[in-house]
Amino acid sequence: MNNMNKSEVLLILKQLGIRPKKNLGQNFLINKNTVSKIILESHIKITQSILEIGPGLGALTEDLVKKSNQIYAYEIDSVLFSYLSNKFSSYENLKLFNEDILKAKIPLHDLIISNIPYSITGPIFEKVFYNAQPPRGALVIENSIAERLFNKKSYKSFSRITVTFNAFMKPVRKFKISRFDFFPPPKIELALVIVEPRKDIDKLLLSDDGRTFFLKFVAGIMPYKNKNMANTLYYFIKNDKNFTYSKQHIEDFLHENQIKNDKLASFSVDEIVELSSKFFTFINN
Ligand code: SAH
Repeated sequence: MNNMNKSEVLLILKQLGIRPKKNLGQNFLINKNTVSKIILESHIKITQSILEIGPGLGALTEDLVKKSNQIYAYEIDSVLFSYLSNKFSSYENLKLFNEDILKAKIPLHDLIISNIPYSITGPIFEKVFYNAQPPRGALVIENSIAERLFNKKSYKSFSRITVTFNAFMKPVRKFKISRFDFFPPPKIELALVIVEPRKDIDKLLLSDDGRTFFLKFVAGIMPYKNKNMANTLYYFIKNDKNFTYSKQHIEDFLHENQIKNDKLASFSVDEIVELSSKFFTFINN
């Protein structure tokens, strides 16, 4: 089996009698060099189990089945799922699921290697990486999101996904990928990102309650990144019916914990994690 180019992808789609579905983010890889690059950069050890999200026509899967003893691949599209089941029927190391990745109960895995459906990047990250023991990853994602993961210090890219992602994961390498390496070409520029789990994930994030609070907290404060911390926390509280604290309470909280009342955007990811941990204790007492 060889990796696919554009005419092969077109032929298979024709034989299956389908067109790429926009709502499922179907942009199939058609550049063999890019496939090789993704596999190479993944540094797969044969004993490492792999999760693939959205195998599509199997452009990456073809290589994965030769590199690992155990692959789990989730494809939501039933036509593609049948095609893949047939194509890879002789590979016992590949377990295919015809399921929505966001609803699935995924088996434990060491590595996630995927060209994901770009429109659900945020929910996919939450599902696979925002855990107590996230896997390593090699993912093709939208370049503008990749920049938000990597450029932690730039005001412009500092956002909700910067903070949540970097609390759990360490972005390691990033390569731009042309949108013409896919059929049909998506409207956005893409990037391959290599990411590793942090070895020092904060204690707050190891418990289900703490993690749920953290994700909600970051989502609630990041829209106010140019406000000072007292106002940011005040807006967060005001927008959430569960909490009733006055501005004075919040100022006392900052003072007692020696947290500077500077612009949210001047805080580092780790400072925000620490802040959320202290705030979690504060509102639970
Ligand atoms: N990895 C393939 C296909 C990428 S296109 C390649 O690189 O060529 C994205 C794939 O994700 C499509 O096959 C699409 O059907 C699938 N997909 C979209 N949403 C999904 C979901 N929620 N769960 C599982 N698969 C999904």
